[in-house]
Amino acid sequence: MKKVPLFIEGEFRQSTTQEWIDVTNPATNEVIAQVPCATDDEMQLAIKNAGEAFKAWREVPVSERARLMMRYQALLKEHHDEIAEILSQETGKTFEDAKGDVWRGIEVVEHAANIPSMMMGETVENVAREIDTYSFTQPLGVCAGITPFNFPAMIPLWMFPMAIASGNTFILKPSEQDPLTPTRLAELFEQAGAPKGVLQVVHGAKAQVDTLLTDPAIKAVSFVGSVPVGRYIYETGTRNMKRVQSFAGAKNHMVIMPDADKQQVVNALVGASVGAAGQRCMAISVAVFVGAAQEWIPEVKEALAKVRPGAWDDAGASYGPVISPKAKERVEQLISQGEAEGARLLLDGRNCQVDGLPDGNWVGPTLFAGVKPEMSIYKEEIFGPVLNCMEVGSLEEAISLVNDSPYGNGTSIFTSSGGAARRYQHEIEVGQVGINIPIPVPLPFFSFTGWKGSFYGDQHAYGKQAVKFYTETKTITARWFSSEAVDGPNFSIKMQ
Ligand code: NAD
Repeated sequence: MKKVPLFIEGEFRQSTTQEWIDVTNPATNEVIAQVPCATDDEMQLAIKNAGEAFKAWREVPVSERARLMMRYQALLKEHHDEIAEILSQETGKTFEDAKGDVWRGIEVVEHAANIPSMMMGETVENVAREIDTYSFTQPLGVCAGITPFNFPAMIPLWMFPMAIASGNTFILKPSEQDPLTPTRLAELFEQAGAPKGVLQVVHGAKAQVDTLLTDPAIKAVSFVGSVPVGRYIYETGTRNMKRVQSFAGAKNHMVIMPDADKQQVVNALVGASVGAAGQRCMAISVAVFVGAAQEWIPEVKEALAKVRPGAWDDAGASYGPVISPKAKERVEQLISQGEAEGARLLLDGRNCQVDGLPDGNWVGPTLFAGVKPEMSIYKEEIFGPVLNCMEVGSLEEAISLVNDSPYGNGTSIFTSSGGAARRYQHEIEVGQVGINIPIPVPLPFFSFTGWKGSFYGDQHAYGKQAVKFYTETKTITARWFSSEAVDGPNFSIKMQ
């Protein structure tokens, strides 16, 4: 049985723990590896070594740090398909979707290679007579990242390249459900020439996360995962005086105006709701049909009914299994609850079978209409291939509905009216808005800007905000004497 190693002090090493968690292939539920819950001693060693590595790494010139990222992005591109194949095995994602996961991460590494210009401070000459003020951006120290199962390449790559390019050292605790992809990312980072200890990878679950949240040597924590854990991470990390950015769950609405292009709407809804088995934090899980647009629901049903899940290398499959039997049970239970609470179940994905893979965690495409805000299927993040349709009378009503949602990760409007789109982008209380684009994930030169219950913190992932999150600003006010004249002591604040 493959045992996933820890990556501590620049070495991939076997944990001495007695506690191991099975890593399974969601298409078969075969155990493909075991991941350790790192011992206290191993956690302490990782933290101590990351602290020591920081002393040297912070002195490495910023252009050299950028070059490490250039070598890393080249290696990731070279190994792109191989990483995607590992990712498919442990997540069940189709190969095409797994490649997208890797590629979206590579783009962040490309962005991290621009670190010199992103770390520039500000200067003003002559803030007072012969006095100049300038600021530097300096790294924080040891930072930590805790990542979810659903993007095992992209989300670790949102974090450690930006933190390390900014001059920090980093401890990554990947999801225990798919640790093989992040392990491969760490191997390639080492091959790219990362000095020992700059990146450490520890494994485990709550106990290991708690050590990262409470140890005083850790200065900042980045988290991506579910709402309850995200709140806990934010509250515990900040109580322990750390900087925390916590990206949590979502419920994303797509508003469909009657003047939208019908075929574009149908295509967008189908791909954005069941793609990746609905296990994307930016998946569209609620379609809000305005007025006569609800007449298109039968066509959405017809298109969704043609979609089927399947194995990662099945070219005809649109998506894979959900991550675990527990996740499947939860999705199916929510579907039953939706039916019991009075939503109209137009397509039922329960008891789904895939030929030749009887033990996989399959859920077929599922469609509800007549969904109301008080129903569990609306209130809870289902994280499965389930699309809820809601019907409203006007754009105003659609905006109120979306703004009343506690989540604010992403939303989208489909329309041919510039006025409607402009109003929507202005009034909607959601951090990422698509106009005739269902999943508006910003590229890394912007930041990933979820709002409300989908994000706790202030500085977001990647883009300039990540550099702000991982650094501290130091402002220097300097005077160099250019004459022999010496003033006497000064006892009051002088107006300049
Ligand atoms: P999760 O919260 O179960 O786990 C995330 C991480 O937290 C894992 O590394 C896990 O080991 C750790 N963890 C789990 N329970 C913990 C606890 N009690 N204390 C401390 N650490 C704990 O999330 P998941 O199921 O792996 O991922 C899916 C969730 O992530 C969804 O809710 C999805 O919306 C969210 N997500 C959000 C974004 C975003 O950008 N907002 C992006 C991707 C995923």
